[in-house]
Amino acid sequence: MSEERCPEWESLDKNEWRGIWVFIEILDEGINTASLQLLTPARGLADKLNTELVAVILGDDVKKYLMEPIYYGADKVIYVEDKKLRAYYPDVYGEVLVTLIRKYKPEIFFAAATLRGREMVPYVANTLRTGITADCTDFSADVQNRDLIMIRPPFGATLLAHIRVPNRRPQLATVRPNVFRLPKRDEGRRGEIIEEKVRVPESKIKLISRQEVKVEETPIEKADIIVSGGRGLGSADGFKLLSELANLIGGVVAGSRKAVDAGWISHDRQVGQTGKSIKSMLYFAVGISGAAQHLFGIREAKIVVAINVDPEAPIFENADYGIVGDYRQVIPALIDEIKSRRVTKGSKNQ
Ligand SMILES: Cc1cc2nc3c(=O)[nH]c(=O)nc-3n(C[C@H](O)[C@H](O)[C@H](O)COP(=O)(O)OP(=O)(O)OC[C@H]3O[C@@H](n4cnc5c(N)ncnc54)[C@H](O)[C@@H]3O)c2cc1C
Repeated sequence: MSEERCPEWESLDKNEWRGIWVFIEILDEGINTASLQLLTPARGLADKLNTELVAVILGDDVKKYLMEPIYYGADKVIYVEDKKLRAYYPDVYGEVLVTLIRKYKPEIFFAAATLRGREMVPYVANTLRTGITADCTDFSADVQNRDLIMIRPPFGATLLAHIRVPNRRPQLATVRPNVFRLPKRDEGRRGEIIEEKVRVPESKIKLISRQEVKVEETPIEKADIIVSGGRGLGSADGFKLLSELANLIGGVVAGSRKAVDAGWISHDRQVGQTGKSIKSMLYFAVGISGAAQHLFGIREAKIVVAINVDPEAPIFENADYGIVGDYRQVIPALIDEIKSRRVTKGSKNQ
């Protein structure tokens, strides 16, 4: 985007733009935790830049959610309640956000890199002709210039790009779910709540039919136990063994990108930089070498158990427990051991 094409930005006065906004996503089942997680970096930045932290909520029947962002660290909530916002349409949500941004002029705007965030925020960026950095993993600030430094891995996680938008406002960023932890919830916090009445446009998108898709398995980003397989499994059959272990211990299966590329597991179960970040209590990495792009997705896992034939595999440097061996022997042995302990425990109780 060249400066010539955007004359409105030629005379940017940064002092007119103040405040950090976080878009709080309301789903049918309630607030999307991924958006509350953003209050963690946003609170730190707001304190550093000495500005207010504002949560923005759009939807229908949203009053019951208004205090939550404040309990998690926001100073203020701005909300728009309208029947037309019950169903999510990117152009409608985008237009409402553009209206609010034009009125309040926040210097920074964050949204979670969810399906909605990835769709809606580029709409806002394009309409306002400002910059957007997708999938950020960290932030800092140049306080003097009030520039946000948006940090994200570019094509390999061995590098970290530091991106800034010095001549446009607001500075827009999306953040992957589970990269930041939820802030501490404090019901004693108080803040201001502002209702905004804005014209909500009709969507240009027409819904032709709606089909409910039943998701059988817990999404990996929400699972407590994950048994994950890589190229070392050798074939899709390897995942049958991993599923058996996962079922036994109440977990779900996931995989590396190589396993996804091979067609052994679906992309929605890919862990890593171009997949999902997980935060499970227990993560088994089976036949996974431990490439930087994979490790990126397991930073928030509490306990990592690596099973690999190669004692030099990098995954062992990032694991709490390592088992050197062929998974075709190790996993059945683990399954047998777990089963036998359960039987023994059961018989003692009888
Ligand atoms: C821009 C970019 C984004 C990427 N995003 C992702 C991403 O999101 N997620 C991701 O995972 N990767 C990603 N990658 C790919 C990444 O760099 C690695 O290529 C990939 O993670 C390797 O997958 P793997 O560990 O399954 O396979 P390999 O690296 O081939 O490792 C297989 C491992 O299995 C072990 N093994 C072999 N046989 C057995 C056996 N019988 N029992 C036990 N162990 C065995 C081997 O010793 C080896 O360590 C990305 C790459 C790029 C460039």
